[in-house]
Amino acid sequence: MADTFSELKPPARVLLGPGPSNVHPRVMKAMLTPVIGHLDPEFIAVMEELKKLLRTVFRTDNELTFPASGTGSAGMEMILANLIEDGDEIVVGVNGAFGARIADSAERLGAKVHKAEAEWGRIIEPATVEHALKQSKKPKLVAIVHAETSTGVHQPLEEISAIAERHGALMVADAVTSLACVPVEIDKWKIDACYSCTQKGLSAPPGLAPVTFSARAMEAVRTRKSKCKSWYLDLAMIANYWGESRVYHHTAPITMNYALYEALRVVIEEGLETRWERHRRNAAALHAGLSAMGLKLVAQEGYRLPELSTVAAPDGIDEAQVRAALLKDYNIEIAAGLGPFRGKVWRVGLMGESCKRENVTLLLGALEQILTAMGAEVARGRALEAAAAAYAEK
Ligand SMILES: *Cc1c(COP(=O)(O)O)cnc(C)c1O
Repeated sequence: MADTFSELKPPARVLLGPGPSNVHPRVMKAMLTPVIGHLDPEFIAVMEELKKLLRTVFRTDNELTFPASGTGSAGMEMILANLIEDGDEIVVGVNGAFGARIADSAERLGAKVHKAEAEWGRIIEPATVEHALKQSKKPKLVAIVHAETSTGVHQPLEEISAIAERHGALMVADAVTSLACVPVEIDKWKIDACYSCTQKGLSAPPGLAPVTFSARAMEAVRTRKSKCKSWYLDLAMIANYWGESRVYHHTAPITMNYALYEALRVVIEEGLETRWERHRRNAAALHAGLSAMGLKLVAQEGYRLPELSTVAAPDGIDEAQVRAALLKDYNIEIAAGLGPFRGKVWRVGLMGESCKRENVTLLLGALEQILTAMGAEVARGRALEAAAAAYAEK
């Protein structure tokens, strides 16, 4: 007898983890439009519009700005594989899982990595980067995570970028969790290469990695002594496909490009500044509610991301059980801590479409009920009031 396979019926969750965030309905609709050839003039027109939309969101005039095929990590590897050659010395900021990922990838690509480190939950100080640069001979680049999703830390980039420039190094930034949630200023901050993703602040499904390269970065790519070690991520070839000549390299994921196109239209209609302010306000209310309950935020004060909060689980409470109850009883996804935060910290995302008042209220109410039922010492009946008071503020 032939096996039978049941129809897919995933539940529609409230996604309040570190990504994916809830997908905008207009994006889902765009994904139902016809798949056409990747060299069809109609699709090429979409590609051209995508480059313009991405330049607007990245706040850059960089010619080479496009969505790489693959998730955010593919964007990271594209940048590293094209900028790094064997033996290059580079500086990587490591204060969480995603900085460690950059260091790992760069080492595999043949770089000698000098780490500029900080404790999980704290920013990397500019002086630490400067010190690491001084340890390097002819540093090729400095790579740093703007929004460390493993810790909830909002890393200032501008000063570090100026330090990199003084040392003749390129500045690379991971904006996977920051793009369209908090200001990302590629040109103003003189960032030479930056990567993001579709499934966090942009609220499209995972699958593409918007990237942008400055003229200085492209000069470094053009003057390589060796070929890029990755065929799939080789910019010299991909830039031809996304540029004038349209030389086939790989088939662009058509439907995902439609999704990104619509997601960017939604972002630009809302306005970047309005979107940043929406993230700030909802996070302020969430933080006020959590504090009123007696829960503690983990990231360094003054450097907390609005789109990703790390919250300490109360002593004696099995954090996994709380997440399981949120999912089962309230249909809400939040995430566990990584690395040293495993078993101790929750990661709560308010990204893009997921970042709205009803989700803040829903989560605060649900957490209070679950923690109270588990016998945790949380203040009852205060969180929603504190959140409402935060919303009432200007
Ligand atoms: C999610 C994330 C990544 C990886 O992106 P994927 O789309 O999962 O490949 C990289 N850096 C940061 C800061 C992230 O939050």
